[in-house]
Amino acid sequence: MECVFCKIVKGELPSRKVYESENVVAFHDIQPQAPVHIVIIPKKHIPTMNDVGAEDDAVVAEIFAAARQIAAEQGIDASGYRLINNCNADGGQVVYHLHIHLLGGRKLGALVA
Ligand code: IMP
Repeated sequence: MECVFCKIVKGELPSRKVYESENVVAFHDIQPQAPVHIVIIPKKHIPTMNDVGAEDDAVVAEIFAAARQIAAEQGIDASGYRLINNCNADGGQVVYHLHIHLLGGRKLGALVA
C-alpha cells in the first residue's frame, strides 16, 4: 500500500494545506492534539529521521523555515510552540514518511514519555 503522505503530496488524498513549495508541504493533522497541529513533510519519500542524508540538507532546512513561517501565520510564534519528530517504533512513529509535528495554541505539558 502506498504511503499516505505520498498520496497527499500527489493530491490523491485530501488535506488542509497551509504551506506548499517545490519540495515541502504542510497540512493540518487529522487528529489534532492541540489547537494548532500541523504536519510538515518533504515531498520526497524519506521513511524516517534515520534515512535523512546529506543530500537532504536543503529540504530539512526548508522544513524548519516553513515551521517558523507557519507558526507566525498561525499567531503562535510569540506564545510558543513545539516541533516533534517521532522515529521508528519506540519513538511512536505511525506514518513512515518523515514529518515534523508543529503543535501550539495552548500551554503544552512537560515532554515526558
Ligand atoms: P507519527 O506518530 O509521528 O507517525 O504521526 C503521524 C500523524 O499523521 C498522526 O498525528 C496522524 O493523525 C497524522 N495523519 C495520518 N493520516 C493523516 C492524513 O491523512 N491527514 C493528516 N494527518 C494524518
